[in-house]
Amino acid sequence: MGGDALIRGEIMANKKDKFHNNSGIARITLILLIAVLIMIIIIAVPSLIQFNRDRDSVGCKNAITTAKRQLAIEGMTGKSLSTSKDASKFISYVMSDGNDLCPTDGTIYIIKSGSTTDSSYRLICGIHGDTKEKTQLNASYALSQIEDKLDTVKKKNENVPEEIVITMNGSSFVAHKTMENKGYRTGDRDKKAKAYYMVEDGEVTYFTYVDKDHCANYTKKDGWTGDAFK
Ligand SMILES: [Zn+2]
Repeated sequence: MGGDALIRGEIMANKKDKFHNNSGIARITLILLIAVLIMIIIIAVPSLIQFNRDRDSVGCKNAITTAKRQLAIEGMTGKSLSTSKDASKFISYVMSDGNDLCPTDGTIYIIKSGSTTDSSYRLICGIHGDTKEKTQLNASYALSQIEDKLDTVKKKNENVPEEIVITMNGSSFVAHKTMENKGYRTGDRDKKAKAYYMVEDGEVTYFTYVDKDHCANYTKKDGWTGDAFK
């Protein structure tokens, strides 16, 4: 009987050892599994983000192509689409999501190309367009918003505001009044769009807009300059 108990005790001890060994292996396996998961996340997430970006860019291009085709058809019927405003109205009317052709809410600029009799238009997205051209368009759109604001301020006899909210490309940012030509360049660390303006007698005398790729500067004297215009 005593020997039996001894044997049973040994068996129990062996089982315990096995259990300990197993839990050690299980822990290592778990750590390895987590490491592999982390690696997969590190590798997959950026490519997933890139995949979404590419998909949005393609979606934007396709929507623009469709809108342009609709404009061309309308143009052929001889109906008047003589200004960009007409074209814009027509697109919002004809396309179910006319106001946001772009999946990421890029502002769509409609530019008349060719002569006045030619009613063909170019549509450029403020997010997915050519980097220089979109900087030019976003900059001049920002400037027009500042000028509009200055007009309303002038009518109300108010002071030139220190900040003006600019809305474009599905979001907004603040343009700041400045006292000096700051000569901002692209490549700012946070890569967000920025704008600064100087005002004299209610008119913009200096304006600068920078985004992650280019900059666009405007002075009343020289018009538009900056690497977006080179
Ligand atoms: Zn777009």
